[in-house]
Amino acid sequence: MSPTNTDFILAVEGLTVSFDGFKAVNDLNFYVDKNEIRVVIGPNGAGKTTVLDLICGRTQATSGSIKFKNRELTRMSEPNIVKAGVGRKFQNPSVYTDLTVFENLEISYPSGRSVFGCLAFKRSPEVIARIEEVAERIFLSDQLYTQADLLSHGQKQWLEIGMLLIQKPELLMLDEPVAGMSVAERRQTAVLLREIAKEHTMIVIEHDMQFVAEIAHKVTVLHQGRILAEGSPDKVKHDPKVIEVYLGH
Ligand code: ADP
Ligand code: MG
Repeated sequence: MSPTNTDFILAVEGLTVSFDGFKAVNDLNFYVDKNEIRVVIGPNGAGKTTVLDLICGRTQATSGSIKFKNRELTRMSEPNIVKAGVGRKFQNPSVYTDLTVFENLEISYPSGRSVFGCLAFKRSPEVIARIEEVAERIFLSDQLYTQADLLSHGQKQWLEIGMLLIQKPELLMLDEPVAGMSVAERRQTAVLLREIAKEHTMIVIEHDMQFVAEIAHKVTVLHQGRILAEGSPDKVKHDPKVIEVYLGH
């Protein structure tokens, strides 16, 4: 059998993971286009976070395939998946609270991460320019020298997106990025994600349907580890099966 190449940036086929016989993700197939914002929704326990864990190599698949730019990820280590261009933001913001916004972005800059990179790290004009560029994008230009501890919950979420962006991953995966945000912050985040999608591809897990409608090109609805529906936000919102298991509650 020869491997088939696709134009999709991400092609997931037959993906299954079984925890002690329980299939948290069950024979999943989905395909993401370059520069797409794909939103994954579904009730608690549907398997949304597990799908991201599988893609970033945190959890090993029981069977199936995950191809990122035609490279098989299921056999790659977590650090190599990051190097291949996949960045992941977890549900709770994990910024370094005792460092400033600038320092958080600085340590996330790719060359700052290796052992030698750390020792030899210089604040070159190039690095500083990149930090300022990212800070502006995540609405934190005025907070560059603020300790991350003092940021609002929403600003911490933006900083974490910035810490991913500075690594220039081709695929960004965000788990509930607007949880705990104010209405105004949600609106700003929608603008931010739309802007990011011009240069990156994104998979976003989200519950807030208003926000989903603002950002999603396509929505995948998960239920019991399987795809219940897929399509435009509008199509999915009016799907009777989706209303029954998810939106109606
Ligand atoms: P969602 O993010 O959609 O709420 P999850 O992906 O977190 O759902 O979880 C899906 C199901 O898989 C849940 O029943 C959860 O308890 C189970 N699960 C997730 N990770 C593990 C694990 N490492 N070991 C055992 N069960 C797990
Ligand atoms: Mg989850």
